Amino acid sequence: MKRRKQKSIAARTVTYVVLILLLFLLIVFIVSRFDKPPVGEEQSSAKVITPASSDVISAGTAGSAGTAGTLPDEGDILIITTAAETKGTDELADNEWALFLVNNQNALPANYDSTIEDDIGLTLVFSDYRDYYFDSRAAPYLTKMLEDSAEDGVSLYIVSTFRTQAYQQTNLDNSVAERMASGMDYDTAYADALESVALPGHSEHNAGLAADIMTPTYTSMADDGFKNTDEYEWLSENAHKYGFILRYPEGKQDVTEIIYEPWHYRFVGVYHATKIKESGLTLEEYFSENGWADDDGKATEHLGPIEETVQADNNSPAITLPPDMITVTVNSGTGEAIPVE
Ligand SMILES: [Zn+2]
Repeated sequence: MKRRKQKSIAARTVTYVVLILLLFLLIVFIVSRFDKPPVGEEQSSAKVITPASSDVISAGTAGSAGTAGTLPDEGDILIITTAAETKGTDELADNEWALFLVNNQNALPANYDSTIEDDIGLTLVFSDYRDYYFDSRAAPYLTKMLEDSAEDGVSLYIVSTFRTQAYQQTNLDNSVAERMASGMDYDTAYADALESVALPGHSEHNAGLAADIMTPTYTSMADDGFKNTDEYEWLSENAHKYGFILRYPEGKQDVTEIIYEPWHYRFVGVYHATKIKESGLTLEEYFSENGWADDDGKATEHLGPIEETVQADNNSPAITLPPDMITVTVNSGTGEAIPVE
């Protein structure tokens, strides 16, 4: 009886010790759960990819100098430095829209004035005796270029930016009249004027992407003397960093059909501006070399806001045509179908 009682006490003691141990283990287990990340994250093998700011990051691809060709896996962390943070760099995809030809062979749509004013938007970039507007998407680059040049101690002065096609016609008419007043006949005056004033719809100013830039102490377009200024030198060294190219370079009139204009700068985006500057090509030659234009200089790719005529057969899923419409023009920029009278 005594032995049984003793045994019972020993058994109870063992039970208590086991219970206390189990309780202790349970507490340790619960506490440890709060210290650890949830199951699945603790075994992460995610790569950290830091692409250069000039790289294109799009659906499922990434690369940079050190990780060229590296495709991110699910769970990878992409650290992306955006173009806006870094002066002089750009994301290609951001400004690819700006690469298109406007010249004698490649016209803007007749209604582009209203397209840029209503759909794209114009931004005031400079104000003097009148206001100067620029395509809203490119305006920040022009503004930054003006600010940075001032910091570098040069005085850039905007002479012309966006012009309506009606204003372009007035410009051309005035240029012809001036030449006739100095003795030329109409045909000669017209041909001569077209070497420096583009036809309406054929001017980059009508696209809101060209800026004529000079300096307050030299605003003459009667000659190319602007090329001897500090401001021209600054532009030659820096314009491409802001997406601008010298559009009508010296000795290239046979290609551009426009005289050397040291003041005319065209926005094409930083990526292409840099390529064009490095290559020494005109925009026309850049298109040809890349196979983006046919032998007549008409763009076959990077068509920009072109106007195309389509036959109304209601077969195009993209365009819904009113039943009484025979022919429409389609503004590829807005997708809007406009009836042809
Ligand atoms: Zn110009």
